[in-house]
Amino acid sequence: MTANLDLLEKNDPSVFAALRGEEARQRAGIELIPSENYTFPEVLAALGSVFTNKYSEGYPGRRYYGGQEYTDEIENLARDRAKAVFRCEHANVQPLSGSAMNQAVYLGLLEPGDTILAMDLSHGGHLTHGAPVSHMGKMFNFVRYVTDPSDGSINYDQVRKDALEHKPKLVLCGYTSYPRDIDYEKFKDIADEVGAVSMTDASHFGGLVAGGSMKNPFDFGFDVVTTTTHKSLRGPRGGMVLCKKSLASKIDKSVFPGLQGGPHMNAIAAIAITLQKAQSAEFKQYAKQVLINSKVLADALMDRQATLVTGGTENHMMVVDTVASFGLDGRVAEETLDKVQITTNKQIIPDDPNPPLRPSGIRIGTPAATTRGMVEEDMLQLADWIVTCLQNPEDDAALSNIRSDVEAFCGRFQVPGI
Ligand SMILES: *Cc1c(COP(=O)(O)O)cnc(C)c1O
Repeated sequence: MTANLDLLEKNDPSVFAALRGEEARQRAGIELIPSENYTFPEVLAALGSVFTNKYSEGYPGRRYYGGQEYTDEIENLARDRAKAVFRCEHANVQPLSGSAMNQAVYLGLLEPGDTILAMDLSHGGHLTHGAPVSHMGKMFNFVRYVTDPSDGSINYDQVRKDALEHKPKLVLCGYTSYPRDIDYEKFKDIADEVGAVSMTDASHFGGLVAGGSMKNPFDFGFDVVTTTTHKSLRGPRGGMVLCKKSLASKIDKSVFPGLQGGPHMNAIAAIAITLQKAQSAEFKQYAKQVLINSKVLADALMDRQATLVTGGTENHMMVVDTVASFGLDGRVAEETLDKVQITTNKQIIPDDPNPPLRPSGIRIGTPAATTRGMVEEDMLQLADWIVTCLQNPEDDAALSNIRSDVEAFCGRFQVPGI
């Protein structure tokens, strides 16, 4: 692998310099964007392997091109491991990313115009959960539930009312910015009551389900679970559709030939590696520590007068209302923390009076920091820095001191694969 980088350095110094720059950036700062992570060195190796050369349209044993003995082996390994890790009957590991995996489910199980009940984007749902700007939002009739204004959590009675009123064909739970766990039993009951397919989009917390620190929707009888592979699961960029056997053939046909052509076999090899890692004792410990760190960080921020949406966290993320806490909009908060190399992202909060590019909060998560080996006491340090920065956004001297401290601190934590 190093030899290949030497070649890159010689033949394309511009790309090489950017790659080295990104490595240094990832090492020098604290990554707190909840959807990001550092993948395993073995995954980086598989992504840069000869599997990228191969066309493998179709599925193992039924391909449209020859020369599939090793690709079949890899894809079977990935599917079997996915089934073992998530305790499900069927796995499709070909979706090119998270958005494609959700599109494959909607298009495979429903007809255009059908109704889907999902979480509103501005209350924590994902773009692919029917945001009006998305193609899926135009193609299907999305009815979007919102969180309860009293405490920022999902109001299951309201979700049930929405379901009874709109009779969705699919009921979707899962989120991209919501700091609470999901009551799967209630969602499953609601889906059953209206005869809808039950689906969880576990993109954010798939790794925590795999590692056993969060509940598995299949234990509650869910029909479909989708997850990205590059967030808390720590794998390559990609997506998986996991489902009951009865839906397997519809899902497979929908991914290929319905939506995609050739799968990215280098990513599928990397997914297989990731799913073996996910079965290790180390990964279970990792999944546990992500939640411990999240709770400690949330409590420490609240001890320092920060206001968190829903008043805390039950998962790997928290949403800080920066306007209420510090009188700063989310964009200024994000930019202030960027100055000290703490990376977060601005975030709309439920019923946000402010526009998406200047929302009222930021989103913070612990998967990447935990991968680097940070533990409880490090979270207290992070809370100190975050609050000091956001209370003194104009104090350049203080920010510059913190930036030096952050760099020294980061020197203590290795980034896997760099
Ligand atoms: C990240 C995410 C996706 C989409 O993943 P991409 O790989 O960015 O397309 C889908 N759903 C949820 C809930 C997500 O958080």
